[in-house]
Amino acid sequence: MTSQPAPPAWTRQRAREADEADPLASFRDMFVVDPAGPIYLDGNSLGRPVRAAMGAMTELFGDWAGLVVTGWERWATLPQEVGDRVGALVGAAPGQVLISDSTTVNLYKLAAAALAYQPGRHVLVGDRHDFPTVRYVLQGLAAEQPAAEVRSAGGGPVESERAAGGRRLRLVDTDPVEGPSPAQVGEALDDDVALVCLSVVNFRSGAVADMAEINAAAHAAGALTLWDLSHAAGALPVDLDGSGADLAVGCGYKYLNGGPGAPAWLYVRAGLQGRLRQPIWGWWGQRDQFEMGIDYDPVPGMARFLTGTPAITAMVALDAGIGPLLAAGMPALWEKTRQLMDLLVSRAEEVLVPLGACLSSPGDPQRRGGHLALSHPLAWPAARLLIDGGLVVPDFRPPDVLRLAPVAIYTRYLEVFDAVERIASVLASPDVHRPVARRAIT
Ligand SMILES: *Cc1c(COP(=O)(O)O)cnc(C)c1O
Repeated sequence: MTSQPAPPAWTRQRAREADEADPLASFRDMFVVDPAGPIYLDGNSLGRPVRAAMGAMTELFGDWAGLVVTGWERWATLPQEVGDRVGALVGAAPGQVLISDSTTVNLYKLAAAALAYQPGRHVLVGDRHDFPTVRYVLQGLAAEQPAAEVRSAGGGPVESERAAGGRRLRLVDTDPVEGPSPAQVGEALDDDVALVCLSVVNFRSGAVADMAEINAAAHAAGALTLWDLSHAAGALPVDLDGSGADLAVGCGYKYLNGGPGAPAWLYVRAGLQGRLRQPIWGWWGQRDQFEMGIDYDPVPGMARFLTGTPAITAMVALDAGIGPLLAAGMPALWEKTRQLMDLLVSRAEEVLVPLGACLSSPGDPQRRGGHLALSHPLAWPAARLLIDGGLVVPDFRPPDVLRLAPVAIYTRYLEVFDAVERIASVLASPDVHRPVARRAIT
């Protein structure tokens, strides 16, 4: 390859020109954006409202009023239909994704199903620096079946963990910035591992895990993989089918714009669907559901991963939320995200690093997702000043991280440029040194 000339430095003028040339610029109008409001860089926590959600909710209200209970003939298959549309964003062929429950509940369902699939295996492998709920669900599953107290004859220590027979969680000591490497995960694998459960994009640093390599390593050791795509779905192209993933989950309210508390989704590779049994035996997973049979007999396919009555009102809003992403297409969104991230990183290095900030995301653009982590000892008071001053909405993650997500579908280049200036002015102000109490929700 011939070497490309270095692109010009990002100036306010170049950002303005990038907006003018942006093929995705018109998608912003599909969202509710207050032009006088702060610059919103927190769409990785809660996506902006999609205008179409309002119409979709009104239409649903009309159906509910007009059809009442007979509306279920229309609604009953929405978990599969909306699931297939989410699947199109994450590289899953139809019939493998369902909308259901919350991400946490889906993690539990699929991890428990993976443990039950190979009862002779007792170990769950996770990432010490993963999002808390992933760790907690794995810890809870291990605690359900603790090791028996097997002592050697002399009352000495346990002979071997394995002899004790209980489940164990093996947390890989990953690099908090670079995320789990295939080599590190490989070291945690042996023939007692039932499941490797990791996030594709780390919630704090934005590090991207190598799904294909980790899937291959896990499979070589006889384990299944479960991926949490909460910070990946809608942010960057993911190929669940192509990478050889077994199981996946993700939430609906971050990059998928489904609204606060939107239902989550889950993925089960086609070949595994009939072989796994999830732990919550509900009537929506039952064969011939309306026969109301006495004993649980799950449907042979994907619907066995449903539990109870699906949240149709919320699912309709979620379906509206992913509409703009499907229309824009992940390749175009990712191209713009990379440009926005380039602008953000280069301006942050120029303007914020001299003010004491340091980048806590991978330096390689290929290895980070759709958000940037910026560490600064005054990150918490800075976040409060930015939000309370109506300047920028970032979010704060302990101990000292500002997370900034320039979500491609509705964020302008100029906004990212100006956000960095505003963050700089706050970090340089005397106010940022005044102590501010930590709040319950950050
Ligand atoms: C946001 C997020 C969740 C959220 O789980 P809920 O059950 O919706 O609260 C789970 N996992 C990861 C990795 C996340 O980033």
